[in-house]
Amino acid sequence: MDKVLYNGVIITANEENDVYSPGYIHVKDEIINEIGEGSPHHITSEGIQFHNLNGKWVIPGLINTHGHTPMTLLRGHSDDLPLKRWLQEKMWPMEQKLTREAVIASSKLAMVEMLKSGTTTFLDMYHLFLDDIANAVDNAGMRAVITRGIIGLCSREEQKAKLDEAISIAQTWHGKGDGRLTAMLSPHSPYLCPPNFIAEIASAARELNIPVHTHMSETSQEVEENVLKYGKRPVEHLLNTGFFNGEALVAHAVHINDEELDILSQNQVAISHNPMSNLKLGSGVAPIQKMLQKGITVSVGTDSVASNNNLDLIQEMRMAVLLQKGVNEDPTAVTVDEGIKLITANGAKALGLDQKIGSIKKGLDADFVILDSSAAHLQPKLNALSHVVYSASGADVLDVYVKGKQLVKDRQCLFLDEEKIFYECNKHYQMMTIS
Ligand SMILES: [Zn+2]
Repeated sequence: MDKVLYNGVIITANEENDVYSPGYIHVKDEIINEIGEGSPHHITSEGIQFHNLNGKWVIPGLINTHGHTPMTLLRGHSDDLPLKRWLQEKMWPMEQKLTREAVIASSKLAMVEMLKSGTTTFLDMYHLFLDDIANAVDNAGMRAVITRGIIGLCSREEQKAKLDEAISIAQTWHGKGDGRLTAMLSPHSPYLCPPNFIAEIASAARELNIPVHTHMSETSQEVEENVLKYGKRPVEHLLNTGFFNGEALVAHAVHINDEELDILSQNQVAISHNPMSNLKLGSGVAPIQKMLQKGITVSVGTDSVASNNNLDLIQEMRMAVLLQKGVNEDPTAVTVDEGIKLITANGAKALGLDQKIGSIKKGLDADFVILDSSAAHLQPKLNALSHVVYSASGADVLDVYVKGKQLVKDRQCLFLDEEKIFYECNKHYQMMTIS
């Protein structure tokens, strides 16, 4: 591809948060070759395509740093329960009925939803049919971090089998799809994995030279139980297992004190903040203003739609930003400039992909999203960045590119059969509820 998109508003999410209006992007092959303000009159070469954006807005491809795509089938299956009962009484029994076909259909449904709302990269933690999921990601042209969530409350033989499987999945997929797929190792959580097994998983990740990921300090009950069982709160507990010795990303971190934040900051642990899931399950609100003040990398994840109930990362960002203002009674708590980075540059850093993606910058991969700026809720059009953070939603996404390849055109996925996927998901869910 050798293409210039011009006459648009380019929201870069770079270090200075530059917005070029009007601006242009020159995409050459898979890379952003040039970006700038004004007109691209100086760019001339044989065969180059010019595309007039007519004032549309361009943002980086969005990055969802925590989720479980096979649970997309369980959207609306259970509402209004706390995490423990929700998992044990509603989610786990249904997940036991998930067939290979259902997992594939469900993951594809999540991919359609994510792509059409501007997400190009996502972390997927699951325990079933990961090879099929990774294959579907590759075929869809998206990016994903594939990681097998490991529950360690089982026999030593089962633990070993699960870890071997997780390692094998990581070895198979890390770097595949021309670098679009990477891997992590993930003990599910300190409450579902004994500490010596967490230590073993973390050391296996270091041998593979990949990061680790886990759920941590999601509910106050989890923290209390950790103290009762192990005499330590989850952060110190994980620190002692060596979990933070290499690159680490933890999801939630809702119930966390200042001392724990210092440990996370010193160990350069990144956070995936999942505000809507934490609200829906009544878990609480993570102190991300404090995290940002301490220099911690804070990104945003949706968690699964079973506790969200959608994968719209623009809405998730808005919730993250507004919650901090309300909870801290401080309208400056998280700003517009910080907000956009939660789902772009910070997400890339949290996944260890900041040398490739996360902003619209010369030399990075050409992952970007074009928003329709003509809707009523985006008028008047000046202050595009403010509108993206405080007024837009995933429904404003028109076109999506990953590595210079167009994956969504005029709100339609080009490499995923939406109608077939919707049909299959409805069929599988119906079968699971009557069996
Ligand atoms: Zn989760």
